[in-house]
Amino acid sequence: MHELRGRTSSGPVSFCVSLNQGLDRGAGTRYGRWLVIGVIASISVLVHAAATLLGAESPSRAKAPPESIVVPVLMYHHVREPGPGLSDAASLRYAVSPIEFEKQLDYLKQHGYTTIDSRVLDHAMRTGEPLPAKSVMLTFDDGWETQFSIVYPSLKARGMVGVFFVHTGVIGDEPGSAMSWADVCQMEDDGMDVESHTISHPSLPRLEPDALARELADSRSILEAKLGRPVTALAYPFGDFTDREIDATRRAGYRIAFSTEVGLVQRLDEPLEIHRTIVTFSDTTDDFAIKLTERDGGRALLDYRPSITPAVRAASAQ
Ligand SMILES: [Zn+2]
Repeated sequence: MHELRGRTSSGPVSFCVSLNQGLDRGAGTRYGRWLVIGVIASISVLVHAAATLLGAESPSRAKAPPESIVVPVLMYHHVREPGPGLSDAASLRYAVSPIEFEKQLDYLKQHGYTTIDSRVLDHAMRTGEPLPAKSVMLTFDDGWETQFSIVYPSLKARGMVGVFFVHTGVIGDEPGSAMSWADVCQMEDDGMDVESHTISHPSLPRLEPDALARELADSRSILEAKLGRPVTALAYPFGDFTDREIDATRRAGYRIAFSTEVGLVQRLDEPLEIHRTIVTFSDTTDDFAIKLTERDGGRALLDYRPSITPAVRAASAQ
């Protein structure tokens, strides 16, 4: 897992607090009080004049930009029934049955959610402009063929969009366990959003700098050549990244990148660390609703443990 980077909790120094403290100290005499009021009035006039010259809004009317957007970005891998290679508890973290998946899409429809693609989120992250009401992003990693044969038709039937992160090294001319380029192009032409998941799906922090740069830049240029439009979103393989990978991702031309950190709060100053909340095989409708609405993504219901049923969770919480 990637190294967590701490944040300071101290906020910016408040200009108002400094002024009030100065007023208290200068209020001992009448002269001092008027001097302070005169200075404040002068500063106010100067600030207003500067704002007018710069074409800015009056400070009293200016709205502070938001620091974050709250939007669920759900993460899927396999959408298929358990079977060979997909039967133990660990594997089931990365699978949802087709029947449950359809139920989840219907739930989103019935509850008025709007699916968005990576460009819509990127725009909102850059401008602070609000997303459509009840936005949700559905992401699908690794380019599995079932994402073309099961996920894409299910989304299309409901007028929804999905974001598909493919590592270009597994996409071939013929479909196998992964999609083909024809599949990728059909989905893209039909309004789905296909983005980068590197070339060979390595853990990026383990790579030498040259290899890291190649995985990021070449996967992007390969996809751009196939899709005929800029590719600006990345999902970190295994969710592994440190500050070095964030810098390399930015230098490679990506505008937005997706982690596996759970939660719905997306900080506007961290567009390369978008949180995603995993959907797993054992999720009930109630679990799904929690992952859509709780700011911490329900910690993905005890950090992905699919064998824990709601009854067991309720018992363990007592
Ligand atoms: Zn992956």
